Amino acid sequence: MPRMHREEHRTERIGWLRAAVLGANDGIVSTASLVVGVAAASTGRSEVLVAGVAGLVAGAMSMAAGEYVSVSSQADTEQADLTRERSELATISESELDELTSIYEGRGLDPALARQVAEQLTAKDALAAHARDELGISEITTARPVQAALASAATFATGAALPLLVVLLTPDALLVYAVSITSLIFLALLGILAARAGGAPVLKAALRVTFWGALAMALTAAVGALFGTVV
Ligand SMILES: [Zn+2]
Repeated sequence: MPRMHREEHRTERIGWLRAAVLGANDGIVSTASLVVGVAAASTGRSEVLVAGVAGLVAGAMSMAAGEYVSVSSQADTEQADLTRERSELATISESELDELTSIYEGRGLDPALARQVAEQLTAKDALAAHARDELGISEITTARPVQAALASAATFATGAALPLLVVLLTPDALLVYAVSITSLIFLALLGILAARAGGAPVLKAALRVTFWGALAMALTAAVGALFGTVV
């Protein structure tokens, strides 16, 4: 029993942590790329900072909006499913019991036991049993749009603040190098953190995130340098 309990908590924590790491990851990659691109066009530090701060705000807002829309449409679907289920339970409760029975049979219980389980769970909380075993809605997966929107905006902004801090602390001539190198280090550390928490291979995770970060910065630096010489 205590083992089961710990594993449950771990899964829950990974969900949260994955969302946080993804948000921070996005914030670092997009802001660092923006900063490197603008700096490579050999503009001054204040332009670089304005671009970076605008990128932070725009990115955090777009993360929040995207997350809010996607999570609330998930919540709407869940609510609609639950409403339909509730009315089915009120009107055709006998066939709903059959339905639950066949779900448990499908999972490997023999018919008599499946019936017994279905009856007992229906007696305790019919809607909860149907929500969990038929619709796949549990407490953990229940959608919370505002919470999700705030969390992804906050993690994005935190990630985005790191390269901006580096811009503030570095002399102009070293900006591009300092931002790229520190951002790759931040990305690698985030990858390692996420992998350790999830029990995944650490080196692979670190290489994966730094590769995509390096690619993004290289591309925007190239674009910045190109436009910087043309304009
Ligand atoms: Zn049902």
